[in-house]
Amino acid sequence: MSDLKAIDKQYVANTYARFPVEIVSGQGSLVCDETGKEYIDMGSGIGVTAFGIADETWRQAVTEQLGKVQHMSNLYYTEPCAKLAQLLCQKTGMKKVFFCNSGAEANECIIKAARKYAAEKKGPEHFTIVTLENSFHGRTLTTLAATGQAHYHELFQPLTPGFVHAPVDDIEALKAIALEHKAAGVLIECIQGEGGVNALSGDFIRAVEAFCKAEDILFMVDEVQTGNGRTGRLYAYQNFGVEPDLVSTAKGLGGGLPLGAALFGEKAEFVLGSGDHGSTFGGNPVCCSGAVSILERLDEAFLAEVRRKGKLARASLEGAPGVEAVTGLGLMIGVKPANRPAGEVVTACMERGVLCLTAKDKVRLLPALNIPEDLLLMAVEIVKEECAK
Ligand SMILES: *Cc1c(COP(=O)(O)O)cnc(C)c1O
Repeated sequence: MSDLKAIDKQYVANTYARFPVEIVSGQGSLVCDETGKEYIDMGSGIGVTAFGIADETWRQAVTEQLGKVQHMSNLYYTEPCAKLAQLLCQKTGMKKVFFCNSGAEANECIIKAARKYAAEKKGPEHFTIVTLENSFHGRTLTTLAATGQAHYHELFQPLTPGFVHAPVDDIEALKAIALEHKAAGVLIECIQGEGGVNALSGDFIRAVEAFCKAEDILFMVDEVQTGNGRTGRLYAYQNFGVEPDLVSTAKGLGGGLPLGAALFGEKAEFVLGSGDHGSTFGGNPVCCSGAVSILERLDEAFLAEVRRKGKLARASLEGAPGVEAVTGLGLMIGVKPANRPAGEVVTACMERGVLCLTAKDKVRLLPALNIPEDLLLMAVEIVKEECAK
């Protein structure tokens, strides 16, 4: 491990503050480090390994496809890509899907689509996208511009122009900003993940939708973190009874392989035409096969289980000594420790065999969606004990 640490430090770009742990194997919601120590995985690779590590069904789907064809480019038809797009549309009512490789790219795609829609419909001065303060939409220069947190912007000027930020849960302010800037679209996360696992109010989400519909501004939802069952619905917007025009998703979609998707509703179905967008790796058959095996299992009974387990964890955490607040929905859980910094709680939990994440001042829990109840409650108990210290 000390060797590995030194090599990593010398040769891997210094952008990540890693925990001093090397993960070598795992099964489901348990992972093992190089010394054989076992951990309950409450982070699932930042909400990516939706059915846990080395999930058998996912692994079969992926390895079977690997033995057939691993990549053909988008010049040819491949079955997993078409099947996954069909599944996504059938399960959401959305009309079309564009596949890419990450959350940032999915957002780039829906931003391009909103700009083209507005330029064609209203004129080229209608290019601005309104996003929310404290949002997170990715690390490319355009999705950084979309991200409503100044500290991500500082060293990378100039960012892509055409983004303005509105305060959370203030519909009148958002309307004024959108109209003043001739907005092409409004992009929100129903629950701000990186921003601290903060859910927007349902009334605000519905008011944004109504305003967008009335003004023919595209209503865009970033489901990169909240999507694919994470909140106990297939997509988080379904908790609020709204229908976006554009949806971006990634993280849990591929179950551990890089895969992003942009979903187009009726209004935007035909906005991107031949040659308007593309991706060499997008729709890769191996990634899509894995994703089909995930999506097929996210049925109503399974999602009800995600909601039930989320409620159990929440009930255990709420009002516990040292826990100031519990936020989020389903198995996307934010825990605000009352007396210790969240990072300190996460480090202490790791030492005790529980891997958690942080998000601003919260301990963030994004376990695999199929985490067994006993492991979930065991991990929550340790988080509680460390919050109480
Ligand atoms: C993680 C995340 C992104 C960026 O996804 P990448 O795959 O890292 O590009 C965008 N939006 C939200 C809400 C995210 O949580």
